[in-house]
Amino acid sequence: MQKYGGSSIADAAKILSVARRVAKAKDSGSDVVAVASAMGDTTDELISLAHTLATDPDPRELDLLLSTGELVSCTLLTIALRNLGYDAISLSGFQAGIHTDTMHGRARIHRIEAGRVEKELSGGRIVIVAGFQGITEGQDITTLGRGGSDTTAVALAAALGADRCDIYTDVEGIYTADPRIVPEARKLLEIGYSEMLELASYGAKMHPRSIELGGVYRVPIYVASSFNDAPGTLIHQGPDEGRMEDRVKVTGIAYQGNVAKI
Ligand code: ASP
Ligand code: MG
Repeated sequence: MQKYGGSSIADAAKILSVARRVAKAKDSGSDVVAVASAMGDTTDELISLAHTLATDPDPRELDLLLSTGELVSCTLLTIALRNLGYDAISLSGFQAGIHTDTMHGRARIHRIEAGRVEKELSGGRIVIVAGFQGITEGQDITTLGRGGSDTTAVALAAALGADRCDIYTDVEGIYTADPRIVPEARKLLEIGYSEMLELASYGAKMHPRSIELGGVYRVPIYVASSFNDAPGTLIHQGPDEGRMEDRVKVTGIAYQGNVAKI
């Protein structure tokens, strides 16, 4: 299982290089499912466009609108892969069997019916799935909340019994602090789910629900750069996680900007 963030597929050239990366995983002999987020700032742009037409856009319509961002990137990635000679197919969240509750804008996944994805994989295809979206019992499209493609990827990895979920992004992994602010920050080669959950909840750019899911379903999550092959960070059940006192230590520091306390 692989997931590519918006900055990794921000333009056609980047989509092509991601297609080559996906193809390489396929060449190594694995069945490959890749989840794509929307290109660049597409989601922000769609939100502000909607807000130019209404101060409080209807949540159902907004979700259907936002889901199109991921459809664009998935189909383009698939077109690129097919042009490279690989048998690939794109699926919307709904086609991939991702069923959610009805909370538009922050829907939670109820279950994944992975039959279609499995069928395509057994036909030898690479499957590209639109992140961040699902469908309700009433057939309405929902989104999982900002940054939700991470959660799509880990949930699919759990449902398919994938060996690992690779999250490719614009940073080389998880750091002990934000390297833009703390020059001495170090990249972590591994981190436990519970520590990562703390970091993810306070600014370390991953959808916290994806870490929770990884911990519950024991899906190792590997965070690495989509631009180079530098070693990334493996989020897994670390050797320390079961030992009570060993957990009491500082692994990293995250922060949130633009916060006022009253
Ligand atoms: N495109 C969506 C967002 O920007 C989902 C994601 O990036 O994971 O929030
Ligand atoms: Mg995005």
